[in-house]
Amino acid sequence: MISQPRINIRTPDVMSHVQAQVEKHYRSELVETIRAQGGVLQSGKTTVRLAKQFGFCYGVERAIDLAYAAGKVFAGRRIFLLGEIIHNPDVNAQIEALGIRYLPAKPSAAELESLTPDDVIIVPAFGAEVKTIEAVKSHGCHVVDTTCGDVMSVWKRVRQNATERVTSIIHGKASHEETRATASRALGIDGLGHFLIVLNLEDANRVANFLVQGGDTDAFLKYFANATSPGFDPRLHLQRIGVANQTTMLRSETDAIQNLLREAISNRDAGSTAHFRYFDTICGATQERQDSLFQLLQESLDILIVVGGYNSSNTTHLVEIGMEKLPTWFIRNATCIESADQIRHYDLIAKSEIVTTGWLPPHEHLTIGITAGASCPNNLIEETIHRILELRGE
Ligand code: SF4
Repeated sequence: MISQPRINIRTPDVMSHVQAQVEKHYRSELVETIRAQGGVLQSGKTTVRLAKQFGFCYGVERAIDLAYAAGKVFAGRRIFLLGEIIHNPDVNAQIEALGIRYLPAKPSAAELESLTPDDVIIVPAFGAEVKTIEAVKSHGCHVVDTTCGDVMSVWKRVRQNATERVTSIIHGKASHEETRATASRALGIDGLGHFLIVLNLEDANRVANFLVQGGDTDAFLKYFANATSPGFDPRLHLQRIGVANQTTMLRSETDAIQNLLREAISNRDAGSTAHFRYFDTICGATQERQDSLFQLLQESLDILIVVGGYNSSNTTHLVEIGMEKLPTWFIRNATCIESADQIRHYDLIAKSEIVTTGWLPPHEHLTIGITAGASCPNNLIEETIHRILELRGE
């Protein structure tokens, strides 16, 4: 492995330049004004209520700052981002406009071969798989690691599990970059650790049933294809389990999953939970955004708009929370609001963007709630507010 000298890219002059650029691209004076007046904007017969906490989290802010700083410090060199910096297409387009190119989160052998020691690789806020980082470093590239500290806390837990030969049950999405990165750490330093990824309560129920009653191993492995460590055998590797989560999961679901699995272990082991452990690894920012939405939903709202990237996990969970209570529209940005009658939005059930008519209630007085995931910049919220007020003639 070729080692690169450490370079501090967060010098005061670089960061003041970065700050100016980031503010220009993502800041919203309107949002700051609304926040300062308690989260409510009254314009004619339209009321807009913002959640108390929404939008960029500390981890995303840091990742964006570092990507912009890398663009300045390493100008003239090839700079690649491993996958997306965060799950927001508008932010990713801005990063691309800085001249930063994209490599897949899991680059092919040919893509890795083309890298040189002069290249710079930015690791996104979700982190990257151990093997990918090692491969990039073996080509001598300079690595700018923007992995969020909260994600690294999960890695610490699952590595510890591997050391103690406890299988990590990861509540997350098997295809999500963060969960793939976490799973790669669950193998441990010797690569002999194990993991099993469960997406939801249905998956967790299958695990719980196997823990208590056993069952058909092949059917179990078929069901969890692409969600287990190499060589995973549920008869051997569910003896001692530790539950951890992707940092952006739905709190209520994570709680239900860990309770279910704890109970299953207790049933299997004659009342003992010695072979069960649980680490709450939902990050503070995700928790705050979910809590703030529950608080916003106490208000009398006609509809809720959630702004964010369609592949953003924490945003999706905000949509799920909203849908339980009132008509909820999940949009990428203001351009999705095509007219007062028609909206282009992501449908969580169809798993695609669809167009719906009659989305805006025809009431004379209307109260609209707005929130956004941790990867959504404030300028997109401002544009959404302007678009609504324009359509309402306010
Ligand atoms: S959502 Fe949480 S884990 Fe992800 S970058 Fe933000 S603070 Fe970090």
